[in-house]
Amino acid sequence: MSSAYVPRELRQRVAEQARHRCGYCQSSEDVVGLAMEIDHLFPRALGGATEETNLWLACAACNASKGHRISAQDPQRGRAVRLFNPREQSWAEHFEWVDSGVRVSGRTAIGRAAVRALRLNRSLLVRARRVWVEAGLHPPVD
Ligand SMILES: [Zn+2]
Repeated sequence: MSSAYVPRELRQRVAEQARHRCGYCQSSEDVVGLAMEIDHLFPRALGGATEETNLWLACAACNASKGHRISAQDPQRGRAVRLFNPREQSWAEHFEWVDSGVRVSGRTAIGRAAVRALRLNRSLLVRARRVWVEAGLHPPVD
């Protein structure tokens, strides 16, 4: 969550690396029709730099839920774990699509913690995914 100035070329490079999708809920700019925000993986408020290795894309809702967090609680085991890092960690290793792609489920403690902390199954998004799935636009195949 940040309003730091990010040069256009850097934003474009990060957007391409992120395949123009939110690193958390995987919503695509092409599907939602809105540009994703630049996410400071290590929050600016905690000293995170505006440099490529610390940036990824996030939708406004995930970015707002993330806030300045760097950890979240695994609801299954009750212990705090590092928040999922979409630049350094594999989405498919920590999450999976369930209910035909309408909902996200955490496969690991990190995944479960992020599903809850970032509200990856918020009701509006679940309703939108139903439409995207029906249209063959979701879930992403790569
Ligand atoms: Zn998102």
